[in-house]
Amino acid sequence: MTLPETATQPALDTLRRVFGYDAFRGNQRDIIEQVVSGGDALVLMPTGGGKSLCYQIPALVRPGTGVVVSPLIALMQDQVDALTALGVRAGFLNSTQDFGQRHAVEEAFLAGELDLLYLAPERLKVESTLRLLDRGKISLFAIDEAHCVAQWGHDFRPDYLELSRLHERWPAVPRIALTATATGATRKEIAHRLNLDDARHFVSSFDRPNIQYRIVAKNRPEQQLLELLTTEHKGDAGIVYCLSRASTERTAQFLSDNGIEALPYHAGLDARTRARNQARFLREDGLVVVATIAFGMGIDKPDVRFVAHLDLPKSVEGYYQETGRAGRDGQPSTAWLAYGLQDVVQQRKMIATSEGDDAHRRRLGTHLDAMLALCETVECRRVQLLNYFGQEASPCGNCDTCLSPPEAWDGTIAAQKVLSAVFRLDRERRQKFGVGHIVDILLGRQTAKIQQFGHDSLTVFGVGTEHAEPVWRGVIRQLLAQGLLTVEGDHGTLVLTDASSEVLARKREVRLRQEPKRAAKTSRPKAPQQELSPETQPVFDKLRSWRAATAKEQGVPAYVIFHDATLRQIASEGPTTLAELGTINGVGENKLAKFGQQVLDTLAE
Ligand code: ADP
Ligand code: ZN
Repeated sequence: MTLPETATQPALDTLRRVFGYDAFRGNQRDIIEQVVSGGDALVLMPTGGGKSLCYQIPALVRPGTGVVVSPLIALMQDQVDALTALGVRAGFLNSTQDFGQRHAVEEAFLAGELDLLYLAPERLKVESTLRLLDRGKISLFAIDEAHCVAQWGHDFRPDYLELSRLHERWPAVPRIALTATATGATRKEIAHRLNLDDARHFVSSFDRPNIQYRIVAKNRPEQQLLELLTTEHKGDAGIVYCLSRASTERTAQFLSDNGIEALPYHAGLDARTRARNQARFLREDGLVVVATIAFGMGIDKPDVRFVAHLDLPKSVEGYYQETGRAGRDGQPSTAWLAYGLQDVVQQRKMIATSEGDDAHRRRLGTHLDAMLALCETVECRRVQLLNYFGQEASPCGNCDTCLSPPEAWDGTIAAQKVLSAVFRLDRERRQKFGVGHIVDILLGRQTAKIQQFGHDSLTVFGVGTEHAEPVWRGVIRQLLAQGLLTVEGDHGTLVLTDASSEVLARKREVRLRQEPKRAAKTSRPKAPQQELSPETQPVFDKLRSWRAATAKEQGVPAYVIFHDATLRQIASEGPTTLAELGTINGVGENKLAKFGQQVLDTLAE
């Protein structure tokens, strides 16, 4: 559906003049046309897809104020600052303001002096807010993070249910609901609960092509992380996820000791420290946050260059959401996960001892299995990930398995050896024999425990000397991942499953992923960073320092001044006039007037 030039043109003009971008991305143009012409829209777009423009531009093009409902109160100030820097008239109303601040925003709204007004959802339950809105002119309602209306989700907000009533009170005002949550069930529920049955649905691909997915075998996780950061992400901002509070503290300390500025973030920190660490991460360049999954909701920082997991996420959904915080600005970014045998043992154990009924445990198990399948695949990670969300894809060329394809090997005999060792020990069920003991038996090691239990007389003792210990740990990990072994009880004892007997009875082959040799560094994928030439790198660094100083002076996050991608382009094209500078992506009219000369001066230095 293409509207006549006349309807598209104002939107395109606004994109260029205000935001300084050349063209719409993906289906932004169709969405914007729909809303500009007064229709409703339900938008599913991955993080970084460019959802904000889908309501900001219609709000600028249509007469009146665009009312944006968002649960992310902590972000409203930054959002308004970013818009102000673009010359857009924006304000917000939420519980953090005093009477005077609130009053000023209300007056501006009533005087028709706001293009955008951000509201916390609970505001709309207050009759005085509704009356205020009645007295002004509304161009549209945007409902951000619309999945908060879905009752299955963990972000559910009762206040969101009230939003269905917007339509009753203001039937002529178009509504646009936006979310990055992928599943079809959530989408149906959003449409239903927000009364958006007649809205046009815009579903984007969930691919994030600029993110390079990598999953490596965990051996010395902190060292592996350090190597990643020092070789590929020097000076970059990033998030490191750990499962426990203690390990976030430890890892942050480890990174700091090694010259990388890192801050911990978890629910056990007092609120002040937490808020301070989050604010520093958003505002400063190149900080690393080491966090539990409590960190992330509403992290709107566009230039997060890597997300690293030191522990296995519990589901593909969680993994996708967490890694999705990298590279919102579309620049090359890394999603890196270190995963090992202990992760599987620990998570199976957690599921086995978790509260709730069997159905609940089965669900957790299914989620874990899907995550393990992603870890152990010899196929393209992205294909596997997108298939999981019901999307077809072909090998991407930008994940570890595409860049250095792992080999599969026939692990049937190795599997039989492990399984028979487990079977022998099964008879001594009351004892606790962990993974280490199984490996000792296979390798024929005379440890104290082996001697104590006389396990050197087992037929399997010493039958596995053809492989080294890491290989055996890899075999056991993959058997756990494939459901050919499982874990029982508080001690994480390995036990056989129904499927194990087929392998032992030679009725089933076992294919395993070849563990990459530790020394094979040459096969490591190239750094995904966009290269700057040796001459332009110092220019970029200089622009970055100018930006840091300016951001500090104005009390806004650095990216509010200019994005990295914009600074990169400035550095490599070296404009010498304001007119040339104005052609760079991300340099709109207002920023050109405000910062243009300073940028040219910095370049001339
Ligand atoms: P989302 O809310 O979907 O996560 P944002 O609206 O924050 O994404 O946009 C992500 C990034 O992409 C932002 O930095 C934004 O400025 C940029 N962006 C959005 N649309 C365009 C476009 N048409 N051209 C260039 N950059 C864009
Ligand atoms: Zn791939």
